[in-house]
Amino acid sequence: MTAARDAQLRDALDSVRARLARAADAAGRDVDDIELLPVTKFFPADDVAALHRLGCTAFAESRDQEAAAKVEDVSRLIGGAPVRWHMVGRIQRNKARSVAGWAYAAHSVDSAKVVAALDRAAAEALEDGRRTEPLRVYLQLSLDGDEQRGGVDVDAADRIDQLCAAVDAAPGLAFVGLMAIPPLGADPGESFARLQRERDRVQQDFQQRLGLSAGMSGDLEAAVEHGSTCVRVGTALMGSRPLTSPEVVTPVTPSSQAPPEGSSQ
Ligand SMILES: *Cc1c(COP(=O)(O)O)cnc(C)c1O
Repeated sequence: MTAARDAQLRDALDSVRARLARAADAAGRDVDDIELLPVTKFFPADDVAALHRLGCTAFAESRDQEAAAKVEDVSRLIGGAPVRWHMVGRIQRNKARSVAGWAYAAHSVDSAKVVAALDRAAAEALEDGRRTEPLRVYLQLSLDGDEQRGGVDVDAADRIDQLCAAVDAAPGLAFVGLMAIPPLGADPGESFARLQRERDRVQQDFQQRLGLSAGMSGDLEAAVEHGSTCVRVGTALMGSRPLTSPEVVTPVTPSSQAPPEGSSQ
C-alpha cells in the first residue's frame, strides 16, 4: 500500500463526506441519518484496509466470488476487526449460501425465489454459527418497469407488497427497506421522489422504520433530498473502474467523478 494511494483515498473520502454533509444540510436532514457505504468492487483488499484506517466500517460488493475472497483478505489485513459487508449486486440463487456467509445486508433482492433461497441460507448460517444476526434485506425496485435490469416494477404494488411481507416473515431475514437505481437517462430527482413515495406507501404495513438505499457517486444529492438513508458510493471514492466491466451500472462521466474542486462550491 503506497502512501500516495492512502492520501488519494483520504482526500476522496473527505470530499464525499463534505458532499453528503452539504446535501443533508440542504435537505434539512441530520447527516448521521445517512450511511455512507463505500462500494469497493474491482478494488483490492489493501484499499478497503486503508478506508478502514480512515474510519469506514462497512463496505459493499456486487459479485459473490470477488467479495468472498476479499472479505477474508480484508479481515486478515485489519486483524479481524468487525466490518459489515453489503451485497449490492444481482444475487443468483446458487450463490445464496455463500452470500449468507459474508453479507450483513443484501440490497438487490427482487424475487420470491431469491427471498426463499436467502432465507434458507441465512437460517442455516445462523444455526451453524457463520452468522449471528438475520440477513438485512432491501427489496430492489425498478423505476422504469424494465425488470431485466433488476428490481420489481415500482408500479406492481401487489407484487411489492407480497415480497415485502415474505421478507418480513422469513426467520432468517430482516426487512429493512427499499433500493433502486435511477434508469439510464432519467432525472434522478424524479426517480428518487417516486422511490420515496413507494417507501411511504409500503411503510404503512410495517412497524420498523424502513430505509432507502439510494444514491451513488453521480446522484447522491438528489437521493438525500428524497430521503435516502444509505448512499452507495464507488467511483467518487475509489476512482474509475474498468469501463469494459458488466458491473458498471452507470456511465462513468466526468461529473460522476466528483473532483474535489467540483465539490467545494
Ligand atoms: C457499482 C455500484 C454502485 C456505485 O456506483 P458509483 O457510480 O461508482 O458510485 C452503487 N450501487 C450499485 C448497485 C453498484 O453496483
